[in-house]
Amino acid sequence: MNARQPQPETPSNDQEDRYLASTHEVFNQPPALENYNLFEQDIALQEAALREGAGKAAEDLKVFGALAGAAQTIDLGFRANANKPVFNTHDRFGHRIDEVDFHPAYHELMRIAFDNGLHSSPWSHPGQGAHVARAAKYYMHSQVEAAHCCPVTMTFAAIPSIRKQPELAADWEARILADSYDSRNLPDSQKSSVTIGMAMTEKQGGSDVRANSTRAYPIGAGGPGQAYELVGHKWFVSAPMCDAFLVLAQTQSGLSCFLMPRWRPDGTKNPWQVQRLKNKMGNVANASSEAELRGALAWMVGEEGRGVPTIIEMVAMTRFDCMIGSSAGMRQAIAQASHHCRHRSAFGARLIDQPLMQNVLADLALESEAALAYTMRIARALDNQDKEHERLLARLATPVGKYWICKRTPNHAYEAMECIGGSGVMEDCIMPRLFRESPVNAIWEGSGNVQCLDTLRALQKEPETLDAFFKEAAEAKGADRRFDQFLAQLQHDFADISDFQYRARNLVDRMALALQGSLLLRHSDAAVADAFCASRLEASGGMNYGNLPSGTDPAAIIKRATPVVG
Ligand SMILES: Cc1cc2nc3c(=O)[nH]c(=O)nc-3n(C[C@H](O)[C@H](O)[C@H](O)COP(=O)(O)OP(=O)(O)OC[C@H]3O[C@@H](n4cnc5c(N)ncnc54)[C@H](O)[C@@H]3O)c2cc1C
Repeated sequence: MNARQPQPETPSNDQEDRYLASTHEVFNQPPALENYNLFEQDIALQEAALREGAGKAAEDLKVFGALAGAAQTIDLGFRANANKPVFNTHDRFGHRIDEVDFHPAYHELMRIAFDNGLHSSPWSHPGQGAHVARAAKYYMHSQVEAAHCCPVTMTFAAIPSIRKQPELAADWEARILADSYDSRNLPDSQKSSVTIGMAMTEKQGGSDVRANSTRAYPIGAGGPGQAYELVGHKWFVSAPMCDAFLVLAQTQSGLSCFLMPRWRPDGTKNPWQVQRLKNKMGNVANASSEAELRGALAWMVGEEGRGVPTIIEMVAMTRFDCMIGSSAGMRQAIAQASHHCRHRSAFGARLIDQPLMQNVLADLALESEAALAYTMRIARALDNQDKEHERLLARLATPVGKYWICKRTPNHAYEAMECIGGSGVMEDCIMPRLFRESPVNAIWEGSGNVQCLDTLRALQKEPETLDAFFKEAAEAKGADRRFDQFLAQLQHDFADISDFQYRARNLVDRMALALQGSLLLRHSDAAVADAFCASRLEASGGMNYGNLPSGTDPAAIIKRATPVVG
């Protein structure tokens, strides 16, 4: 500073307060949506858990709901995303280590998930409501942070596939199902709990895994349960710090499934090298990688040449979790939007009371509740696979629901973001994360078209699945004229499925709507069911959210969906 310039006087404390704090008062801003119970503040979730058979778990779900809504837990989600995983190929001495370094917040979220059995409970404690209770917990946990749920899901989903090779299951199952999380980078033999990933996709083909070029060479006799060495690459391997992976590779008899550990039983590193981490637009707290297999030891799971039918058991479960995860994303989005609008005023009235915003919020709430109702119904079907109707329903309704619910999520996230206005775009709000996460579930584990084609495959292989689907939907027949007409037209349009591939999206969309409508008519609030039929089952011409016709009751729908905090 030039010494001849007049020096400003040092302000007294009083003056300083006036200079610094008198510009404006902060008001008309909502309190943070935290320290609330994600179960108790979610009427649709409570009803669905009870209805679909998890009544016994209500207390447990309440406790978990409080944990998921605690400010500290929510903060973990932000930290895990602000600090992306870092991949280290070598240690400082030059040894190859293939280690991904995660922020402690990621590990803490994993610990919460594994301590609470999100990877295990329906297998370790099967029975009435087991899948339903687990789905309810996953639904709440995923609202906190969705990305780390990927390895939780894969560990959970691996069990049905691994059980196809009983001696491998005997060795691994207890450690997979242990309700604890061990993040240490050690040979699995030294760990009492392990995580499992999956590696199918290669550069030349993801949906069409028959194009896989990775080869498996038998070390001895070969065959189910026997040791092989795998040579090739994988283009996507999420959660590469998992302790073992289900991998697809070719033998002379065709594509087969293998369990590949990260370490060999002798304690040396399995020659399975991560090349780099994917630079993802969302899902960033979870690491996804590209890898090369350089003679990696693995054991065959299931029959040789039957790799797809073996791993499809795992894939079916991951697809179900995609439904839970996307339903959860929509729930968190509407909770944030309605909470904001409950506290925010514009043009002299609270946003939540203004007709146009009511229409948007109620429409978002409908979408979210319909997704939850569908997902929890499938959870019940999974709990009852010994009943033929439930088995057939789960077979057909899983690809339909995976397709529909995951595909409805991105626009829902975007619209909920807009309800919050400019602050909804800021990174210190959860909305950008929900938005970036929203397309992922639709693409992995079989993208949209692949789900539609799987629906067709189910129809062709087991035509009874369609009867089961319509039988289930028809449970609501007579409750609403619009629903009856919609269902009748859909059934009529299935009379000829010769060009199903071309029409598949249209038919699968309407199947999802029919089942959602049926569930809401049978089980939800009258205002929700009426608005769903009016806006989804009768054409109104409008394409965006905020298209509920006159005569619907948005206030009742919004009230049901809005968490009361502050
Ligand atoms: C974040 C992330 C993590 C992932 N993690 C894993 C992982 O851990 N393990 C793993 O194995 N994979 C993983 N994947 C890969 C994922 O499963 C594939 O990207 C997905 O299956 C699609 O395969 P692809 O990318 O090769 O696309 P393609 O198969 O080339 O498909 C491209 C498009 O064509 C469509 N399509 C394909 N066939 C048809 C058809 N017959 N008719 C009409 N349309 C068709 C698809 O629906 C898709 O929209 C991950 C992907 C992402 C984005």
